Amino acid sequence: MQTESNQEWDRVWAGANIATMVAAQEPYGKLAGASLAVKGERIAWIGASEEARRRAATLGIPVEECRGRWMTPGLIDCHTHLVYGGNRVEEFEKRLCGVSYEEIARAGGGIQSTVAATRAATLDALVASAEVRAKRLMSEGVTTLEVKSGYGLDLATERLMLEAARRLGRALPLSVTTTYLGLHALPQEFRERRDEFVREVSGPWLEALAAAGLVDAVDAFCENIAFTLTETETFLRAAQNLGLRAHVHAGQLSDMGAAELAARYRALSADHLEYLSEQGARALGQAGTVAVLLPGAYFTLRQTTPPPVPMLRQAGVPLAVATDSNPGTSPCTSLLLALNMACTLFGLTPEEALAGATRQAARALGLHREVGTLEVGKRADFVLWDIERPAELAYALGANPLAGVVHRGKSRSA
Ligand SMILES: [Zn+2]
Repeated sequence: MQTESNQEWDRVWAGANIATMVAAQEPYGKLAGASLAVKGERIAWIGASEEARRRAATLGIPVEECRGRWMTPGLIDCHTHLVYGGNRVEEFEKRLCGVSYEEIARAGGGIQSTVAATRAATLDALVASAEVRAKRLMSEGVTTLEVKSGYGLDLATERLMLEAARRLGRALPLSVTTTYLGLHALPQEFRERRDEFVREVSGPWLEALAAAGLVDAVDAFCENIAFTLTETETFLRAAQNLGLRAHVHAGQLSDMGAAELAARYRALSADHLEYLSEQGARALGQAGTVAVLLPGAYFTLRQTTPPPVPMLRQAGVPLAVATDSNPGTSPCTSLLLALNMACTLFGLTPEEALAGATRQAARALGLHREVGTLEVGKRADFVLWDIERPAELAYALGANPLAGVVHRGKSRSA
């Protein structure tokens, strides 16, 4: 147990089973009957409950008795498309009648229909609809959320989407990171001018959005229905020149070598990865790029080839799990459900799944020094759960055993 102690504390949580999620010998980094003290926004101390209560009494500060509840780091949803206009319930019906995602995309549906609805929306409307979804995620203990743009496909709407994401982070007790998904789909107006679109996105648009402080990272959809390896590389190189880190939608429908490209640019994450070669997995492992697994999209598209999890483990690739919350292929606002699916559909262990929404998700966002584990000095983002063992978080379908959330040292009502 860590026993760093000097500064005063504001508040103590005592008598919890703490799943620190620090990679250690104990499963889940478990500390039984332990306490955690907070000072400001930070975790000030973690240790034995007797000492915590004694010191709290001396300091005259409040003690929250956890009565054996489990405490985990605040959950991190590291891949979402939470901001958009409209929805795609019609397409959902079509797909159930047998039309494939590729066919819908080629017929100008899919992403394009959301682009039209997003371009027609106001900033207020985008924030309002995203807020409903963000609150659903928060109700299950999400304290950090990544939000991508990519439904504007013109500079003004991409800016609006990123502003909506920033505003969400200011309006809610939630940490939001923004990703400029510059290469998501080719807009109709650039249909005959692909190269020009890639140049615009990688040049003036990226520069303008980055200069406005709206871009924490970039992303590209490298796929046969989206953008080629060369186009993706043009964008990644431009981002790298501005000192921006990248995510890459890679290997969702085919293996184009996108994982190797992501690794070459030291991307924070490569996401999806249903189609991945051994060489791709090794490249990710060597680059320290996180594999973000998105079982919600796999489930919605009724795919049958899961990501090669044993190969990823073998290559030492960190595995994260996210909702991919989006209107078309993963209308999912439950990270706990994604944890279940990562276990049942992809074969992750419950501990790997929980690490995938805490420690590894933090790594996928480049925030692992700040959040993702419960350690002294890290941000005091944590969740209390009414469960007997942490595997219950991945086990149950549709349950929500949340008993309390602390974000930046402050309790927030669930
Ligand atoms: Zn996505």
